[in-house]
This record gives sequence, C-alpha cells and structure tokens, in this order.
Amino acid sequence: MNSIERIQAAIDLSQPDRVPVDLHNFQPAAKAMAVPLAEVFKDGDLLAESMLLAWREFGHDMILLENGTACNAQACGVEVVYRDDAAPAAHKPAIDRLEDVEKLEVPDPYTAFPMCEVIKATRILSKEIGDKAWIVARADQGPMDLAAQLIGIQELMLAIALGEKTELVHQLLDFSRQVATRYAYALIEAGGRSTSIGEPIAGPDLLSPAHYRAYPFMHEKRMAEELKADGIILANHICGNTIPIIDEFIATAAQILEIDHKTDKQLAKDAGRHKTCFLGTLDTSLILEGTPQEVEEACREVIEIMAPDSGFILGPGCALDPEVPADNIHALVESAKKYGVY
Ligand SMILES: [Zn+2]
Repeated sequence: MNSIERIQAAIDLSQPDRVPVDLHNFQPAAKAMAVPLAEVFKDGDLLAESMLLAWREFGHDMILLENGTACNAQACGVEVVYRDDAAPAAHKPAIDRLEDVEKLEVPDPYTAFPMCEVIKATRILSKEIGDKAWIVARADQGPMDLAAQLIGIQELMLAIALGEKTELVHQLLDFSRQVATRYAYALIEAGGRSTSIGEPIAGPDLLSPAHYRAYPFMHEKRMAEELKADGIILANHICGNTIPIIDEFIATAAQILEIDHKTDKQLAKDAGRHKTCFLGTLDTSLILEGTPQEVEEACREVIEIMAPDSGFILGPGCALDPEVPADNIHALVESAKKYGVY
C-alpha cells in the first residue's frame, strides 16, 4: 500500500498494511527553515517549502498543513500577532459585544489574508506530492474556537456560563461554522485531500460536557454533515480529556477524531471501535523532552491499544513544539513501521 491507500483504509475502517503516520508539525517544519517563523506563516511559498522539506526528511503518510490557530480569526478582522519563535496568536477580538455578530462577514478565502496564502501552499504541495502523501489542508479553527477568538474567550465563556443571549451565542457559532466551511471547500478545490478543524477549547478541560452538547456540538455536526454530503472528509480536533464527551464527539460524524494523551486510550477505543478513525495520541511534551527510546516505547503502547480493528492513525496528540528534536520525530515515524503492521 502507498500512503494514500493506507490512510484511506484507516478512515474506511478496513485494514491497512500498517498503521499510518501523521505529523502535526507546522512549527518544527517552519523552524527548520532559515527564516523567522513569522515569515513562513505569512507566505504560502515558504509554508509549502517547509512542509515539503519535512516530508522529504520524515516520509510521513499524512501531512497536516496550517499556518497556526488564528488564520480564520485574522481573515474575519481579529488582530493577530506574528511571533518569530511561535505560531501567530489572536491579540484583539473583532467584536466587543455579541450583538455585533450582525456586522461580521464571511471572508472570501481566495483573497482574505492569510487564508489565501494557505490555499497557495495547498496548491503547491498538491502539485508536488499530492499523489504520494495525504494532504490535510486544515480549515483552521472550528465553530467554538473561532467564536472565542472573534469576541474574546472570557466574553464567550461568560455568556455560556450565565445562559444569557443564547440566540446570539448560537448566531456567532453558526457564523464561525460558515467561515470554516467556506474555507474548507476552497482548500479542497486547491488540492487538499481532506480537511480538518481545531476546537481546542471545546473540550471538558475548559467547557463543561453539558455546554459542549448545548453549544458547539450541533455546529460541528452540521459542518461535518455538509462536507460529507459533498464527499469531503473532515477531522475534528479537541484537546484534553475528551472521555466525558466521547459519544457526542463521535456523533459529530467527523470521519477522523484527533485526541491527545489526556484522553484514556482504552475508553476512547471502546467507544469508537468500528465507528470512527482516531488520530493521536502521543504526548507532545514527551516528543519534545524525551529520548527516541521513550518516544518509541510510547508509540508501541499507543499502537497496542488503538490500532486493533483499524480506524487509527498514529501521530502527536496536538501541535508539536518548534524545538522538537528530529530524532524523536524519526522514532515516531519508524515505530509505526516496527509495531504497527497488521
Ligand atoms: Zn490539541
């Protein structure tokens, strides 16, 4: 099997030759370039080059292309700061009060910065290696996370906690869903083989399970269903321990669920077996600070629990730190070949 067939089998819940590998490596890939990270994340050519260089070194099956976690927010008018040693970060919200959701407009991804640069990078990668590696062109942040960046996380969490302005909160989540969905279609048109969203703050570490069910769940589900109706595969990424919401997470119908090391692997596997494809779940701190032997041992353990009955892609549970040692990434990729054979 080649990488494309291997990933497709994992998503289809049929048996690949071995466990496929994904790298969530936009930061270390940018770091390996001879320019500041800020330059790479603003420029589609450099972004594509960084991902190509990393793929040529590590040979992973799945490439996760993105320029950070504030792309959609910036395209919608959020002030974003580009840093030389880390991913860009949202700095000032686009609106001060929920009522102003009416003023927001869904950006055109082909012209709005930096969406247009990531689309450019998608085209380059697709042309260069789209038949050899599975390119996930990430539609950046999902409904909950983008909503939080648009109005500020405290304001959004407060409105949800107080149960006030429920209609307006849903309107903001729905707007955010539309932004990510439109961007997703453009990324697929540009050559992405699938797409994904990040919902870091939708997990129980920050949002109660009851509030997950009442707010982001239906918007994530609607996005997954709309894309699926057009044959587009979506991955949904929620950080932290997702076990308290695992059934709803699966019910969003996103074909891939990205989970991290805080989620109990056995409980997740039991809930998702024959239903969904999980991606993860390696501890990014271990990949940053551990030895290659420790990374290999962690991979072996993750594969042992998550790989049976297919529906699994090995990778870091979240974004890798810019300073991750290359030897540890090699250990990760090689472990799938060593321990992941079906
Ligand atoms: Zn995460």
